[in-house]
Amino acid sequence: MIRGPMARPLEDPLDVGPLAAHGTQLERDFPVETFARLRESLSRPGGRAVAQFRFHTAGAYPALEGSVRARAWLTCQRCLQEFEATLESPVRVAFVGRDAESSRVPDEYDAVTAPGGRIGLSEFVEEELLLALPLVPMHPTPADCALSLAAEGEAEAPRTPARPVSRPVTRPFADLRELMKR
Ligand SMILES: [Zn+2]
Repeated sequence: MIRGPMARPLEDPLDVGPLAAHGTQLERDFPVETFARLRESLSRPGGRAVAQFRFHTAGAYPALEGSVRARAWLTCQRCLQEFEATLESPVRVAFVGRDAESSRVPDEYDAVTAPGGRIGLSEFVEEELLLALPLVPMHPTPADCALSLAAEGEAEAPRTPARPVSRPVTRPFADLRELMKR
């Protein structure tokens, strides 16, 4: 993925100048649990995040475009059950050396300050994921809440001792009717 001789700009913190000059593409994945601030909003720490960026130059500034995406566990505010959500945020930023330059980046870019031309990749990705968090996490529909609550009920039901190995009668359509009532 590194093209041409460069002084390890892909080490974290990233050296955005050479990455932009070379049009470097970068894809990294992170365990969600590495993000301490994001973790505070999650119902459990599991999951993975993927960042895909294409570096280029925007006006006079190094820039990147791409996305961050994560599968993460949130607590539904309608039914209070946890669910696995996709956090996704398109990213288009230009890097400035000082805040004062922020207004000079092209309109379609967000300005991000990169002191000395460097950004902490993992910090940057976490920041973008925090922006992608829903204000009020919820299952997509109330029906999903009902399904989640039903599954929870089953999980908590007392276990019956060993089921018979083969069921005497299979009734797939009866089961289907049950499903359709929901
Ligand atoms: Zn719910």
